[in-house]
Amino acid sequence: MKKEVFLEFDHVSKQYKDFLAVNDLSFKVYEGDIFGFLGPNGAGKSTSIRMTLSLIKPTLGNITLLGKNIVNEREETLAQVGALIEKPDFYPYLTAQKNLEILGKISGVSNLSSKIVEVLDLVGLTSRRESKVKTYSQGMKQRLGIAQTLLHDPKLIILDEPANGLDPQGQVDMRELIVRINKERGITVIISSHILNEVEQICNRMVIINKGQSMVEGNVSELLTGSRMKVSYVTDDNERTLGLLANSNFKENVGSIEKEKLTLLIEHENIPELNNFLSNEGVKVYSIEPIRSLEEYFISMTK
Ligand code: ADP
Repeated sequence: MKKEVFLEFDHVSKQYKDFLAVNDLSFKVYEGDIFGFLGPNGAGKSTSIRMTLSLIKPTLGNITLLGKNIVNEREETLAQVGALIEKPDFYPYLTAQKNLEILGKISGVSNLSSKIVEVLDLVGLTSRRESKVKTYSQGMKQRLGIAQTLLHDPKLIILDEPANGLDPQGQVDMRELIVRINKERGITVIISSHILNEVEQICNRMVIINKGQSMVEGNVSELLTGSRMKVSYVTDDNERTLGLLANSNFKENVGSIEKEKLTLLIEHENIPELNNFLSNEGVKVYSIEPIRSLEEYFISMTK
């Protein structure tokens, strides 16, 4: 079955005065995805999310959310989307239950009482629903924030850096919660993050952006074992090997010499050819080590 496209950026740019924060960015999020929107700080993630939610307008390009153009059909589209984009703002002296009642009434949620029971159960706060929010840990506040985004039965939720400021256990809980929301409720989730390891564990698809541009988009597991990978070589003379490569067909692949290792970024299927070349040039290769971790990949791309 063909999956619906829930969010599409089509050559989107955003210019702030003389600064281009998002530069010709295109990517797609499909129904059912847990989609990682990744990039180092300042990459343009928040700007993109704000454009998605129609809080600011793109300078160029189109954004389609749930099949609709967000500029023309803003209200009806956003009614099906939940978002947690800043630290959730609750009344600290009121209970979680009361906070959700107030916020649910403001946004006109139907069957509010039963909905509150349901979302508090989903985020694991039922037993603390009568506690004042000021007694909550950061992780609990964050989960209550997610509960709020779920009150109106969204098809898609957007979470901006959901694990920011959480302790390690809080981060684990947050990841489990996101997976549960996706698997049990069938809600599509977009998570922005600057930490690859965090999304590597739960996202099925992702885009990595840097300086407002897409660096790579695709299936996380395919990218993890991706065709283009970083490989490090230990040879009898790395300096000489580097010189040979720089004058060969492989000059585009040359990385650097780090800790006595020569690093190359190369397609999986081209590795035998590279090995042949080195062997013909009389280079002795002592070891070849693939570096597949997405973390490495991310670092090498955003350097
Ligand atoms: P991220 O969320 O990936 O950290 P942002 O979208 O917040 O990145 O920011 C991208 C770039 O745009 C940053 O360099 C930031 O300083 C700049 N920026 C963000 N908002 C504004 C604004 N209102 N005016 C000018 N520059 C901005």
